[in-house]
Amino acid sequence: MAKGKLYVISGPSGAGKGTICKKVLEADDNIRFSVSMTTRNPRKGEKEAVDYFFVSKEAFEKLLSEGGLLEHNLYVNNYYGTPRKQVIQWLEEGHDVILEIDYHGAFQVRESYPEAILVFILPPSVEELKARIIGRGSESEEIMNKRLEEAMNDLAQADKYDYRVVNENLDAAVAEVQQIMMIEKSKEA
Ligand code: 5GP
Repeated sequence: MAKGKLYVISGPSGAGKGTICKKVLEADDNIRFSVSMTTRNPRKGEKEAVDYFFVSKEAFEKLLSEGGLLEHNLYVNNYYGTPRKQVIQWLEEGHDVILEIDYHGAFQVRESYPEAILVFILPPSVEELKARIIGRGSESEEIMNKRLEEAMNDLAQADKYDYRVVNENLDAAVAEVQQIMMIEKSKEA
């Protein structure tokens, strides 16, 4: 059986990458989603092993020192990373795997696993992105400004990705990601 393909999906918060990933996964049960590990505390409603594997700093650093992470990043005082073993096993079994991670992680994956395919999800415009981030509400102006700043940093990385998908319309963006996966699959033949 052919090995699966590794897809990295990134994009600024508010671009809709989570929803796109969810729809792509729902439509094809051969695709697996890598659950990240983090040292931050769970937010209300987040579930262990679904949203993240929530671990202590010590446990994270131990796994990191053993080479157990495919990539990792320190973000606002907390570690985030992709456990290597499960991803490699799924790829060996022929499953395509999606990592939903930031650009720091994406470029580390590209270094250690050059076959990885990097997809960047873009909002239709900066104005639209701002509106979506502000529209989420319930956050202080300071946090919102920080998120907007982070989103601008994220956008500046889009050119370094293999593919860029503009999320103007959800169904069209999902179809575009599925088409990218078909193109990549056809390259094997
Ligand atoms: P949050 O705390 O909001 O869930 O995530 C904070 C940031 O960490 C987001 O930019 C998210 O994309 C990123 N992130 C989540 N999981 C991983 C991971 O496994 N690796 C890396 N490098 N970043 C991650």
